[in-house]
Amino acid sequence: MSDNQGGRFFVLSAPSGSGKSTVKNLIVERRPELVYSVSFTTRALRLGEVDGRDYNFISVACFKEMIKIGDFLEWAEVFGNFYGTGKLWVETHLRAGCDVIADIDVAGGISVRKIMPEAVFIFMVPPTIKELHQRLKGRRTESNEEIAYRLKMAKIEISRSHTYDFLLVNDKLERTICDLEDIIENRRGLAIAETKSFWDTFFAGS
Ligand code: 5GP
Repeated sequence: MSDNQGGRFFVLSAPSGSGKSTVKNLIVERRPELVYSVSFTTRALRLGEVDGRDYNFISVACFKEMIKIGDFLEWAEVFGNFYGTGKLWVETHLRAGCDVIADIDVAGGISVRKIMPEAVFIFMVPPTIKELHQRLKGRRTESNEEIAYRLKMAKIEISRSHTYDFLLVNDKLERTICDLEDIIENRRGLAIAETKSFWDTFFAGS
Protein backbone atom coordinates (compact mmCIF):
# COMPACT_ATOMS: atom_id res chain seq x y z
CA MET A 1 0.00 0.00 0.00
CA SER A 2 1.15 3.54 -0.52
CA ASP A 3 0.22 6.69 1.42
CA ASN A 4 -3.32 7.89 2.10
CA GLN A 5 -3.37 9.73 -1.24
CA GLY A 6 -4.15 6.40 -2.90
CA GLY A 7 -1.97 3.97 -4.79
CA ARG A 8 0.40 4.66 -7.64
CA PHE A 9 -0.09 3.53 -11.20
CA PHE A 10 2.82 1.95 -13.09
CA VAL A 11 2.67 1.41 -16.82
CA LEU A 12 5.07 -1.25 -18.10
CA SER A 13 5.55 -1.36 -21.86
CA ALA A 14 7.96 -3.49 -23.83
CA PRO A 15 8.24 -4.79 -27.36
CA SER A 16 6.95 -8.30 -27.94
CA GLY A 17 9.67 -10.80 -26.93
CA SER A 18 11.30 -8.62 -24.24
CA GLY A 19 10.32 -10.97 -21.42
CA LYS A 20 7.67 -8.69 -19.97
CA SER A 21 5.32 -11.42 -18.70
CA THR A 22 8.09 -13.04 -16.66
CA VAL A 23 9.14 -9.71 -15.15
CA LYS A 24 5.56 -8.70 -14.44
CA ASN A 25 4.74 -12.04 -12.77
CA LEU A 26 7.86 -11.92 -10.58
CA ILE A 27 7.43 -8.35 -9.42
CA VAL A 28 3.81 -8.95 -8.43
CA GLU A 29 4.86 -12.12 -6.57
CA ARG A 30 7.53 -10.20 -4.64
CA ARG A 31 5.44 -7.16 -3.76
CA PRO A 32 2.08 -8.10 -2.29
CA GLU A 33 1.04 -4.43 -2.22
CA LEU A 34 1.39 -4.29 -6.00
CA VAL A 35 -1.51 -5.65 -8.02
CA TYR A 36 -1.61 -6.46 -11.71
CA SER A 37 -4.32 -5.00 -13.89
CA VAL A 38 -5.64 -7.88 -15.99
CA SER A 39 -6.45 -6.44 -19.41
CA PHE A 40 -9.37 -7.31 -21.64
CA THR A 41 -8.58 -8.75 -25.04
CA THR A 42 -10.32 -10.14 -28.10
CA ARG A 43 -7.40 -12.36 -29.06
CA ALA A 44 -7.61 -16.13 -28.67
CA LEU A 45 -6.36 -17.74 -25.49
CA ARG A 46 -2.86 -19.22 -25.89
CA LEU A 47 -1.81 -22.58 -24.52
CA GLY A 48 -1.13 -22.24 -20.79
CA GLU A 49 -3.06 -19.00 -20.37
CA VAL A 50 -5.92 -18.73 -17.93
CA ASP A 51 -8.99 -16.55 -18.49
CA GLY A 52 -9.19 -13.91 -15.75
CA ARG A 53 -5.53 -14.37 -14.77
CA ASP A 54 -3.60 -13.54 -17.93
CA TYR A 55 -6.37 -11.63 -19.67
CA ASN A 56 -10.11 -11.31 -19.59
CA PHE A 57 -10.88 -12.92 -22.94
CA ILE A 58 -13.97 -11.39 -24.52
CA SER A 59 -15.64 -11.17 -27.93
CA VAL A 60 -15.18 -8.27 -30.35
CA ALA A 61 -18.87 -7.34 -29.87
CA CYS A 62 -18.42 -7.20 -26.10
CA PHE A 63 -15.21 -5.17 -26.46
CA LYS A 64 -16.94 -2.66 -28.72
CA GLU A 65 -19.82 -2.34 -26.27
CA MET A 66 -17.33 -1.68 -23.46
CA ILE A 67 -15.69 1.07 -25.55
CA LYS A 68 -19.13 2.61 -26.14
CA ILE A 69 -20.05 2.75 -22.47
CA GLY A 70 -16.65 4.08 -21.40
CA ASP A 71 -15.42 1.01 -19.54
CA PHE A 72 -11.78 1.41 -20.62
CA LEU A 73 -9.10 3.64 -19.18
CA GLU A 74 -7.41 3.15 -22.53
CA TRP A 75 -7.61 0.65 -25.35
CA ALA A 76 -5.66 -0.09 -28.51
CA GLU A 77 -5.55 -2.46 -31.45
CA VAL A 78 -2.33 -4.46 -31.35
CA PHE A 79 -1.35 -7.10 -33.94
CA GLY A 80 -4.95 -7.17 -35.21
CA ASN A 81 -6.62 -7.71 -31.81
CA PHE A 82 -8.17 -5.33 -29.32
CA TYR A 83 -6.69 -4.81 -25.86
CA GLY A 84 -7.99 -2.55 -23.10
CA THR A 85 -7.44 -1.64 -19.46
CA GLY A 86 -10.50 -1.82 -17.21
CA LYS A 87 -11.19 1.65 -15.86
CA LEU A 88 -13.32 0.80 -12.84
CA TRP A 89 -10.95 -1.94 -11.61
CA VAL A 90 -7.90 0.34 -11.79
CA GLU A 91 -9.66 3.30 -10.19
CA THR A 92 -11.10 1.19 -7.37
CA HIS A 93 -7.71 -0.32 -6.50
CA LEU A 94 -5.86 3.00 -6.65
CA ARG A 95 -8.51 4.60 -4.44
CA ALA A 96 -8.14 1.72 -1.97
CA GLY A 97 -4.40 2.51 -1.74
CA CYS A 98 -3.05 -0.37 -3.81
CA ASP A 99 -0.23 0.19 -6.27
CA VAL A 100 -1.27 -1.06 -9.70
CA ILE A 101 0.95 -2.22 -12.56
CA ALA A 102 -0.44 -2.54 -16.09
CA ASP A 103 1.04 -4.12 -19.19
CA ILE A 104 0.10 -1.70 -21.96
CA ASP A 105 1.58 -1.07 -25.40
CA VAL A 106 3.25 2.30 -26.07
CA ALA A 107 0.20 3.73 -27.89
CA GLY A 108 -1.93 2.89 -24.84
CA GLY A 109 0.75 4.28 -22.52
CA ILE A 110 0.71 7.58 -24.37
CA SER A 111 -3.10 7.75 -23.93
CA VAL A 112 -2.75 7.04 -20.21
CA ARG A 113 -0.12 9.78 -19.88
CA LYS A 114 -2.74 12.30 -21.02
CA ILE A 115 -5.30 11.31 -18.39
CA MET A 116 -2.97 10.21 -15.57
CA PRO A 117 0.20 12.29 -15.87
CA GLU A 118 1.19 11.29 -12.33
CA ALA A 119 1.55 7.62 -13.35
CA VAL A 120 5.05 6.15 -13.75
CA PHE A 121 5.91 5.02 -17.27
CA ILE A 122 8.52 2.29 -17.69
CA PHE A 123 9.78 1.01 -21.03
CA MET A 124 11.61 -2.30 -21.05
CA VAL A 125 13.89 -3.83 -23.71
CA PRO A 126 16.48 -6.61 -23.90
CA PRO A 127 20.11 -5.37 -24.05
CA THR A 128 20.33 -5.42 -27.86
CA ILE A 129 18.04 -5.66 -30.89
CA LYS A 130 19.91 -8.86 -31.85
CA GLU A 131 18.87 -10.41 -28.57
CA LEU A 132 15.26 -9.34 -29.13
CA HIS A 133 15.40 -11.09 -32.50
CA GLN A 134 16.88 -14.24 -30.91
CA ARG A 135 14.22 -14.29 -28.20
CA LEU A 136 11.42 -13.95 -30.74
CA LYS A 137 12.91 -16.77 -32.81
CA GLY A 138 13.56 -18.91 -29.73
CA ARG A 139 9.98 -18.98 -28.51
CA ARG A 140 8.86 -20.63 -31.78
CA THR A 141 5.35 -19.22 -31.63
CA GLU A 142 5.57 -16.91 -34.66
CA SER A 143 6.41 -17.39 -38.33
CA ASN A 144 9.37 -15.54 -39.90
CA GLU A 145 6.95 -12.95 -41.31
CA GLU A 146 5.40 -12.40 -37.88
CA ILE A 147 8.85 -12.06 -36.32
CA ALA A 148 9.82 -9.47 -38.93
CA TYR A 149 6.59 -7.60 -38.24
CA ARG A 150 7.15 -7.68 -34.46
CA LEU A 151 10.70 -6.37 -34.93
CA LYS A 152 9.37 -3.56 -37.10
CA MET A 153 6.76 -2.74 -34.43
CA ALA A 154 9.49 -2.88 -31.76
CA LYS A 155 11.47 -0.21 -33.64
CA ILE A 156 8.36 1.98 -33.85
CA GLU A 157 7.69 1.55 -30.11
CA ILE A 158 11.34 2.36 -29.31
CA SER A 159 11.11 5.53 -31.40
CA ARG A 160 8.11 6.60 -29.29
CA SER A 161 9.58 5.60 -25.92
CA HIS A 162 11.00 9.07 -25.25
CA THR A 163 7.55 9.85 -23.81
CA TYR A 164 8.30 7.40 -20.95
CA ASP A 165 10.05 8.05 -17.62
CA PHE A 166 12.40 5.09 -17.20
CA LEU A 167 14.22 2.56 -19.35
CA LEU A 168 14.49 -0.91 -17.86
CA VAL A 169 17.07 -3.14 -19.56
CA ASN A 170 16.13 -6.79 -19.22
CA ASP A 171 19.51 -8.48 -19.27
CA LYS A 172 19.79 -10.68 -16.17
CA LEU A 173 16.36 -11.34 -14.68
CA GLU A 174 17.33 -10.86 -11.02
CA ARG A 175 19.01 -7.54 -11.85
CA THR A 176 15.97 -6.43 -13.86
CA ILE A 177 13.66 -7.12 -10.91
CA CYS A 178 15.97 -5.16 -8.54
CA ASP A 179 16.04 -2.24 -10.97
CA LEU A 180 12.26 -2.33 -11.25
CA GLU A 181 11.91 -2.43 -7.47
CA ASP A 182 14.14 0.65 -7.27
CA ILE A 183 11.87 2.49 -9.70
CA ILE A 184 8.76 1.43 -7.79
CA GLU A 185 10.12 2.18 -4.32
CA ASN A 186 12.32 5.19 -4.92
CA ARG A 187 11.47 6.46 -8.39
CA ARG A 188 15.13 5.88 -9.15
CA GLY A 189 16.37 4.30 -12.37
CA LEU A 190 17.74 4.92 -15.82
CA ALA A 191 15.90 8.06 -16.96
CA ILE A 192 14.77 7.88 -20.58
CA ALA A 193 16.35 11.28 -21.16
CA GLU A 194 19.77 9.76 -20.42
CA THR A 195 19.61 6.77 -22.75
CA LYS A 196 21.15 8.08 -25.98
CA SER A 197 24.36 6.06 -25.64
CA PHE A 198 22.37 2.96 -24.69
CA TRP A 199 20.46 3.07 -28.00
CA ASP A 200 23.72 3.34 -29.97
CA THR A 201 24.83 0.05 -28.40
CA PHE A 202 21.37 -1.46 -28.67
CA PHE A 203 21.27 -1.03 -32.45
CA ALA A 204 24.99 -1.66 -33.10
CA GLY A 205 25.48 -4.12 -35.96
CA SER A 206 21.77 -4.39 -36.80
P1 5GP B 1 0.11 -10.38 -26.18
O1 5GP B 1 -1.04 -10.71 -27.08
O2 5GP B 1 1.42 -10.84 -26.74
O3 5GP B 1 -0.14 -10.81 -24.76
O4 5GP B 1 0.20 -8.78 -26.12
C1 5GP B 1 0.35 -8.04 -27.28
C2 5GP B 1 0.54 -6.58 -26.92
O5 5GP B 1 -0.64 -6.03 -26.33
C3 5GP B 1 1.65 -6.28 -25.94
O6 5GP B 1 2.47 -5.25 -26.49
C4 5GP B 1 0.96 -5.77 -24.71
O7 5GP B 1 1.71 -4.78 -24.03
C5 5GP B 1 -0.27 -5.15 -25.29
N1 5GP B 1 -1.35 -5.05 -24.31
C6 5GP B 1 -1.73 -5.96 -23.39
N2 5GP B 1 -2.75 -5.49 -22.65
C7 5GP B 1 -3.00 -4.24 -23.10
C8 5GP B 1 -3.93 -3.24 -22.72
O8 5GP B 1 -4.74 -3.39 -21.82
N3 5GP B 1 -3.89 -2.09 -23.43
C9 5GP B 1 -3.01 -1.87 -24.44
N4 5GP B 1 -3.03 -0.69 -25.04
N5 5GP B 1 -2.11 -2.79 -24.81
C10 5GP B 1 -2.11 -3.96 -24.16
